[in-house]
Amino acid sequence: MSASRVFFTDMRASQKENLPAKLERLLGCLDLETVIPDRSLVAIKLHFGEKGNTAFIRPLLVRRVVDHIHSLGGRPFLTDANTLYSGTRGNSVSHLTTAVENGFAYSVVNAPLIIADGMRGASCAEVEINREIIGTAYIGREIVESDVLISLAHFKGHELTGFGGTIKNLGMGCASRRGKMAQHADLAPKIKAKKCIGCGECAAHCAQSAIFLEEGRARIHPERCVGCGECILICPNRAISVRWNADIPRFQKKMAEYTLAVLEGKGDRAAFVNVLTQISPACDCHGHNDAPIVQDLGFMASRDPVAIDQAPVDMVNAQAGLSHSCLVEGKMPGEDKFRSVYPQIDWTIQLEHAERLGLGSRTYEMITI
Ligand code: SF4
Ligand code: SF4
Repeated sequence: MSASRVFFTDMRASQKENLPAKLERLLGCLDLETVIPDRSLVAIKLHFGEKGNTAFIRPLLVRRVVDHIHSLGGRPFLTDANTLYSGTRGNSVSHLTTAVENGFAYSVVNAPLIIADGMRGASCAEVEINREIIGTAYIGREIVESDVLISLAHFKGHELTGFGGTIKNLGMGCASRRGKMAQHADLAPKIKAKKCIGCGECAAHCAQSAIFLEEGRARIHPERCVGCGECILICPNRAISVRWNADIPRFQKKMAEYTLAVLEGKGDRAAFVNVLTQISPACDCHGHNDAPIVQDLGFMASRDPVAIDQAPVDMVNAQAGLSHSCLVEGKMPGEDKFRSVYPQIDWTIQLEHAERLGLGSRTYEMITI
């Protein structure tokens, strides 16, 4: 496979050109005028950060991306899909509240915020891909219906995939509740009997009649459950939880196949940016962020969703690990930082599978601007 171009700019800045201006110059390398038709609806997929987390992309940087799209005649909106777990982004009301509290107010970012999969994550479009594991994918409807997709991902470590970048932002982040369930678990959710108070709200809400009460406790018919995950949100006592799939390689492959589904139908109308700042060991889905594992590195942009993730992994691993971080081993330049934090996770699987699917190339040419 031929080398894909990845554009990079570092963290050096001056009075002449500050970091937001450098980010905009980087965007200029992507020829977005050929990607964004006049008056097209442009979804900027990002992560607004869980409440208490501070590692997510700064809203003022996001504003630069928004303004650049406006200047090309596009109509951008910021979007993410609701989470599976009951944190501060599990439904659209708390998700949007968290986003605004984290600084993504209209007055700051100059674009509306639209949650891609509706009030409780049930608004999805079915995308048929028929690949190794996923036949039909369930994607947040607003993302499928947008004309253009710009992925704006915070690059960092991730507890399930080793690292989280563009493939994570798209494959997992754009999936509806049902799509997230399909990736995280092969089975119905589980009920923690000790926490269940037998209120019956889950049974009343389940559209598949897959939950029933027995001896004052909820039970699930696994053969009826379609894995929509709505009962997890409904339970007032947090007695229902995801049955996390222990098969991590399979999970990584599913995420790559979901990325394919998200980009299906977009053709050339997509572009990808990774922000390499506050490179924390874990996802922004947590209500905290541990100290960065390497120094801030800069911004990367590409039209290839695989190259844009391979390049920052290589760059992070080439760095010296920071002494006050969670890194115990693997601190030397050239040592694998992600394998050091998560020894049981082989992060190459998602990249290899994505390349096999024809999503892009792991071979890249880095162009520093
Ligand atoms: S995941 Fe959906 S289908 Fe399954 S029990 Fe819960 S609400 Fe019912
Ligand atoms: S909603 Fe929760 S507490 Fe109520 S019956 Fe269902 S599992 Fe039990």
